[in-house]
Amino acid sequence: MTALHPDPVSPTSLEVPEGPADPSAPAPRRPSLSPSRAADFKTCPLLYRFRTIDRLPERKSLAAVRGTLVHTVLEKLYDLPAGERTPDAARELLAPAWEELSADPAVTELFQAAETGEPAPSLDQWLVSAGKLVDAYFSLEDPTRIQPEGREQLVEVTLPDGLLLRGFVDRLDVARNGALRVVDYKTGSMPREAFESKALFQMKFYALVLWRTRGVVASQLKLLYLGDGDALTYAPDEGELVRFERTLQAIWAAIERAVATQDFRPNRTRLCDWCDHQALCPSFGGTPPPFPAEAAAAAGWATLPIVERD
Ligand code: SF4
Repeated sequence: MTALHPDPVSPTSLEVPEGPADPSAPAPRRPSLSPSRAADFKTCPLLYRFRTIDRLPERKSLAAVRGTLVHTVLEKLYDLPAGERTPDAARELLAPAWEELSADPAVTELFQAAETGEPAPSLDQWLVSAGKLVDAYFSLEDPTRIQPEGREQLVEVTLPDGLLLRGFVDRLDVARNGALRVVDYKTGSMPREAFESKALFQMKFYALVLWRTRGVVASQLKLLYLGDGDALTYAPDEGELVRFERTLQAIWAAIERAVATQDFRPNRTRLCDWCDHQALCPSFGGTPPPFPAEAAAAAGWATLPIVERD
């Protein structure tokens, strides 16, 4: 397990996109910033626009769906009485969780042969790989000794300047003395040292929201990497969260400016390989659709002031 020392998060550091906005998900009541959408904007402003304002659909991936499946199992594991949270019980949760997920045709399509002639991925092997990730969880924690306060919990706060921060915490533990631990499950492997601050961006986001809503600085941010059975823990301090808040405000000010000017620049990087929108991207010879000004206004964007900061 790796423990990190506090360090500032660079507002210009590159974030790997975590996933698309779900077009079927209800939009928040007004524009807000989440860890993954902040990461999108830092990665590529045009990607942010496509996902958050145009809300363009994106293909699902086997890895992302497996992540959803494993998260569902770990969430439901804590519905069981503490003594029954065993590896066997967790594995038994896989089938009903898969049944729920597979009601979505876009998920089942992933297991059909591609038009290019590529063979269909094996559902059985894929489920086995999900089971291994669930097993790996038990090498990192003993769920019989943990009683979470929240799972998949929405946390949100409006900062004094009007910025709404919101996100979902995989698990929130609260000790008897009020100490907070924020836990996030990752189905990949632990990042190399150079990428650790990016991994912690999301966790600091949650820590900031919890500090602003509860007045308590989380004593531990914990990332559990089920891919290699490793964990990263980090203890933020108050000064760092203040600086992090300024970082988010700077990102938000840049987003507001981009909306007001309808100017979202593409930022071509190696992450473009995973982008579903290359056909609409000027960096790849495409043309973005007209800016959806009406939809943006209806979602509350036009009502936002441009916040200029030094
Ligand atoms: S292809 Fe690359 S530059 Fe273009 S929108 Fe996607 S991430 Fe941005």
